[in-house]
Amino acid sequence: MIIAIDGPAGTGKTTLAKNLAHALGFSYFETGAMYRAYTWFILKEGIDPDDHDALAKGFDRFKYTIKTENGSNTYFVNGHDVTSEVRSDEVTHLVSKIAALGAVRSHLVPIQKAFGNAHNAVFEGRDMGSVVFPHAKLKIFLTASASVRAKRRFDELQKKGDKTPFEEVLKDINARDHADETRAHSPLKKADDAILVDTSNFSIDAVLSQLLSLSKKALKEGKSFFYRACSGLSYLLARLFYHHKTYGQENVPQGKAIIAANHASFIDPPIISFSTSYPVHFFARSTLFEGKIIGSAIKKLNTHPIEYGDQELTAIKLACKLLNDDKKIVLFPEGERSIDGELKAFQQGAVRIAARTHAPVVPAYIEGSFDAWPRVRKWPRLCGKTSCTFGSPLYWENYSHLQKKEGLEKFNHDLKSAIEVLAKERTRS
Ligand code: C5P
Repeated sequence: MIIAIDGPAGTGKTTLAKNLAHALGFSYFETGAMYRAYTWFILKEGIDPDDHDALAKGFDRFKYTIKTENGSNTYFVNGHDVTSEVRSDEVTHLVSKIAALGAVRSHLVPIQKAFGNAHNAVFEGRDMGSVVFPHAKLKIFLTASASVRAKRRFDELQKKGDKTPFEEVLKDINARDHADETRAHSPLKKADDAILVDTSNFSIDAVLSQLLSLSKKALKEGKSFFYRACSGLSYLLARLFYHHKTYGQENVPQGKAIIAANHASFIDPPIISFSTSYPVHFFARSTLFEGKIIGSAIKKLNTHPIEYGDQELTAIKLACKLLNDDKKIVLFPEGERSIDGELKAFQQGAVRIAARTHAPVVPAYIEGSFDAWPRVRKWPRLCGKTSCTFGSPLYWENYSHLQKKEGLEKFNHDLKSAIEVLAKERTRS
C-alpha cells in the first residue's frame, strides 16, 4: 500500500512520513532528498544549472542509493554519504530550480514509481498524490501558514547556531513555495482526492496520530468486520500453534495483483489473508455456498462462488473484473490441494488472467500447512511451524513478445520455479 504525503516545506512532512512508516512497519521515501542529492551532485561536478543537456547527461554518472537502518534513511551518491550535505544552504537555494526541470523529473520519477511498486511505503514530496502515485490508497496534503513554517525553520536554525534572521527565512520559504507552485512540470498542488491537514496549530505528535488513524482506516478498507475478526483470530491461532511467520510482505504491490500460491491444506486461504495487510479475494465452488450460514460467512470473507460446469470461464471473467477494480485475488495454480504436500503441475489460469489484465503475479509459498492439516486428516494437528513468503512479482509484459502459447507456458514455468525457489529458501533458513 502506498501512502502519499505532499505539501510545502516546513509542514513536518519528513518527520511525519518517517514516524508514520515506522508505526505501520512500512518503508519511507523522502523524494525531496533525491532532488537534493542530484542538486548536490551537479554542484560537486561543476555542471552549469542552466545547461539542460549537461544536466540530463549527468544522470549517466549519478547512482543514488538508500540504506535504511533502525527506521532512518541514509542517502548515498556514488557510494558517498550525502545525508547531511544535501541539507546545506547551497543545495537548498538551488534545489527548486533543478527540480522544476522536465529532464530531471523524467529521470527521478520512474525510480520513485519502481520503488513504490515493490514496497508498502510512505512517500513524501510535492507531487506524490497528483503525479507519481495517482492511485495511492491514502493521499494527505499537509499545509501550514508561511509564517508558522518559517518560524519552525527559524527555530531549527537557531538550535544549530545559525543566525539567519526570521525575515530572511520567511522570504526563502515564500520563494520556494512560489517556485514549486508555479513550475510547468508537476507543480505543488493538492490532488483532488487528497485529505487536507492543516498543521499550523498542532504538534507533530497530534498530526501523527491523525495520520495514523487515517492510515489504519485505509488499511481496513475492503475488509468487513467479519473478515477482520476472522483474519485476526486465525492469525492468533497460527501464532499460538504454529509460530507463524510472514516474509516478503513488501513484495505485494499496491493496486491489482494475483497472488499465486502452492496449495496443500484447508488452512492456506486464511494463511494468505492474514499474511498480507491488503484485503484479498478467493474463489470457491458454488456448492460450498449452499448452506445459508456457511455461504454468507464465506462471502463475507471475500470468497466468490464459481458455477460448477464452466468453472474456468466464470472464474476468469470474475477474476478479471476484480482485478480491473484494482483488487487482489488469490489463486492456487495447482487447482486443488496437493495429496502429498509436493508441488503439482500448474494449470494456466493465473498466467492467462495476468495476460488479460496485465496484473502482476506475486508468487507465494506457504510452508507447513500440509503437516498442520493434510487432506487425509479429519482434524488439524495443533503443533508445527507455518510461514508465508511472498516473492517478487512476475509480469506478463516480460513474455508478451513471445507467441501467446509459448509466452503463457514460459510464464507458468517461471511462476512455478519462483515458488520452488521460495520453498528452498525457507527450507534452508
Ligand atoms: O522536501 P524538501 O524540502 O527536501 O524538497 C526539496 C525541494 O525538492 C523542494 O523545494 C522542491 O522544489 C523539490 N521537490 C520536488 N518534488 C518532490 C519533492 C521535492 O520538486 N516530489
